[in-house]
Amino acid sequence: MGSMAPPPCHIVAVPYPGRGHVNAMLNLCRLLAARDGVSATVVVTEEWLGLLGAPAALPELGPRVRFEAIPNVIPSEHGRANDMLGFLEAVYTKMAAPFERLLDRLAAPQAIVADVFVPWTVAVGARRGVPVCAMCPLSATMFAVQYNFHRLPPAVAAGYASPDGTDPCLIEDYIPGTKSIRFTDLAPTHTNAGLLDKVLEAYFSVKKAQCVILTSFQELESDAIGALRRELPCPVYAAGPCIPFMALQEGISNPDGDGYMAWLDAQPAGSVLYVSLGSFLSVSAAQFDEIAAGLAESKARFLWVLRDADARSRVTGAAAGIAVPWTDQLRVLCHPSVGGFFTHSGMNSTLEAVYAGVPMLTLPIAFDQPTNSRLVAEVWKTGLGLKEMARGDGVIGREEIAAAVERLMRPDSAEAADMRMRAALLKDAARAAAEEGGSSWKDITSFINFVSR
Ligand code: UDP
Repeated sequence: MGSMAPPPCHIVAVPYPGRGHVNAMLNLCRLLAARDGVSATVVVTEEWLGLLGAPAALPELGPRVRFEAIPNVIPSEHGRANDMLGFLEAVYTKMAAPFERLLDRLAAPQAIVADVFVPWTVAVGARRGVPVCAMCPLSATMFAVQYNFHRLPPAVAAGYASPDGTDPCLIEDYIPGTKSIRFTDLAPTHTNAGLLDKVLEAYFSVKKAQCVILTSFQELESDAIGALRRELPCPVYAAGPCIPFMALQEGISNPDGDGYMAWLDAQPAGSVLYVSLGSFLSVSAAQFDEIAAGLAESKARFLWVLRDADARSRVTGAAAGIAVPWTDQLRVLCHPSVGGFFTHSGMNSTLEAVYAGVPMLTLPIAFDQPTNSRLVAEVWKTGLGLKEMARGDGVIGREEIAAAVERLMRPDSAEAADMRMRAALLKDAARAAAEEGGSSWKDITSFINFVSR
């Protein structure tokens, strides 16, 4: 009533071109653009524009999040996993020039919000006098580890599990706020000299950004976020969970041609294990077979996301589950029939499970996944880590998988009830953080004020 409209605030967002990173950025933009006067232009490659099916806008992102494209100056999304280093090299060196040409056409934004792993944005912002906000779609814990990597003894970077060859060796002895994370959790990414170089190069730029936004939230990672706030020379905002809960609340969903929602409707409450092991990397063929056999042995009902049609037909049949190529994941996790999530521990998936209050069975592969898995199994205690159960060849056997599924899903065990109780508490915390007046709500307000100044 009579209050002045806030000044318009236009954000140019630059996600790193990978599914998890793009999703996190879109979800953040949706949350920002929910505020009066805020709009966002998301810059992706032409290929990504096609993948998103977004010539200009997407209904689930609301009318104030728009898209612009730069030419396909980086290797295609299809097959990029084959040469991770070459892909990173291209992202780091080829995108800046077409991005600047695009900026020349747009009205000057109040800020550039860029993924940590598109580090050239910091120099572009500095040249143009536009503040750059480094957006971190990893956990705050992983951000702290990578930001402070130089504090770890050189043995880690050289590829040793720990300085004296023993494990567990805790990162927290060197980097505050990283409770429970082991040196070995940083492998394989951080022991690959080429990849590590690229990661550290990105954080060198982060040090020159005007602020940092995390997709996590205060109550979830208070130790790591607290440590970052003490250490970083710039403001650190925790805006999470940056997941598509607004679309869910508004009842906007992707069409379900496979009928999995109807199938879920027909299952008993809390009885279904949702299985999704990542959009980018995948488990070995041997591990896949053990998972399929373990699930069949456990007799658990499951809904399994598998891109490959042949794999889908192999896991169903006699088993008590269905397999589909893709789901509306948050909607699935929030369905009352879902009682557990078998996940590769990608950060988006982890945040979605937290928001849904669903306990997890974790099988991390690489990058930040082992760290997320540690948080789930040892800090939040909302799930079981499978990696520790691996045999000598690194594969987790079917018996171990079947036993873990039963431990997670049993309606009558004290252990499972405890995990469910903790998951329910985090679910409440996630929702409270995002609500008006909550910690993430306030941080988003502070961020908008900071860049609108
Ligand atoms: N996802 C989805 N449907 C699926 C599988 C995955 O919508 O069937 C989404 C999921 O909700 C998440 C993203 O894909 O937003 C995966 O990101 P995450 O960080 O979990 O893992 P990544 O695939 O990047 O390793």
